Amino acid sequence: MVGETCCPKCGAELAEGRVVAGRKELGRENVSICRDCAEVLILSESATGLAIRAATVSEYFGLPEESQTLLRVAFELIKRPRRQSRMVRQLN
Ligand SMILES: [Zn+2]
Repeated sequence: MVGETCCPKCGAELAEGRVVAGRKELGRENVSICRDCAEVLILSESATGLAIRAATVSEYFGLPEESQTLLRVAFELIKRPRRQSRMVRQLN
């Protein structure tokens, strides 16, 4: 297992076998999202292997609208458990 498939923000392992979870071919960039911290990630393949880094805000807004929508949906799904627990606290 190569170490380059970990989230650069929280260190979560993103790879499932040879496939990076949530990986999508979005234009010229490969975009993924960390299932642990919902960080939007840019994947790039080079001669030295796969590199993953966090997407900048301008990169995110430079994506096609459809891609942004997909990432927003994924973000909501990942963040949902935490948001629910916060709502529970507000009710108490
Ligand atoms: Zn992460």
